[in-house]
Amino acid sequence: MQKLEQLYEGKAKKVFKTDDPKALIVDYKDDATAFNGEKKGQIAGKGVVNNTMTNIIFKILEEKGVPTHLIKQLSDRETLVKAVKILPLEVIMRNVSAGSFAKRYGVEEGIEFDEPTFEVSYKNDDLGDPLMCESHALALKLVTKEQLETVKKYASIVNETLKEFFLEKGLKLIDFKIEFGLYDGEVILADEISPDTCRLWDVKTGEKMDKDRFRRDLGNVEETYAEVLKRVKND
Ligand code: 5GP
Repeated sequence: MQKLEQLYEGKAKKVFKTDDPKALIVDYKDDATAFNGEKKGQIAGKGVVNNTMTNIIFKILEEKGVPTHLIKQLSDRETLVKAVKILPLEVIMRNVSAGSFAKRYGVEEGIEFDEPTFEVSYKNDDLGDPLMCESHALALKLVTKEQLETVKKYASIVNETLKEFFLEKGLKLIDFKIEFGLYDGEVILADEISPDTCRLWDVKTGEKMDKDRFRRDLGNVEETYAEVLKRVKND
């Protein structure tokens, strides 16, 4: 598979064309941003962690019936993926209050929910990815009703699967963001699942084991990403 010209460079990844029009190569960077690009930095080794971790998780999710864009990992930082049309929605599920939820409602972090919450944001950097009610996503034709039902079904499987998976690694899944794309007209899971996109708290110590260490200047950022990968790989 030949890596051709760069199609796109995002905040954390570059995407390249290949000689197959239906396949792309994603190249994970060490660049880190937060607060819609206001805070910028580097997390050494992050690209390797996020690429490897995403692929391990996507394989597990495939077995649970969630189709993903994964074709094949090519190197530490590169993966061959299906060329999807990304749905402009950030899908967020939460099991415990944290982050923007805690801020929006003026509650502390750490409240356990009886049922997971499901929310969508409009994936639009210029607008700061605003929270969106489902009827607005439908009104703007960002997604069809049927696609939204599929997204909800898959998001729920992702949450249940990952809650159990991370618990076995001594990590509590607080919340996460996922993205979906269309491939041959079908909804499939795309983007990544990593410490950049999940909140993970150590079960024993309650320590934050995710991008909040970077966002909130908590220190030990690189070490934490490496530790999460170590646990995910059962090393
Ligand atoms: P919150 O809405 O509390 O800021 O984020 C909820 C969850 O979604 C967290 O796990 C956070 O990492 C993830 N998340 C939300 N928006 C983004 C985003 O734009 N980029 C990334 N990488 N993760 C996000």
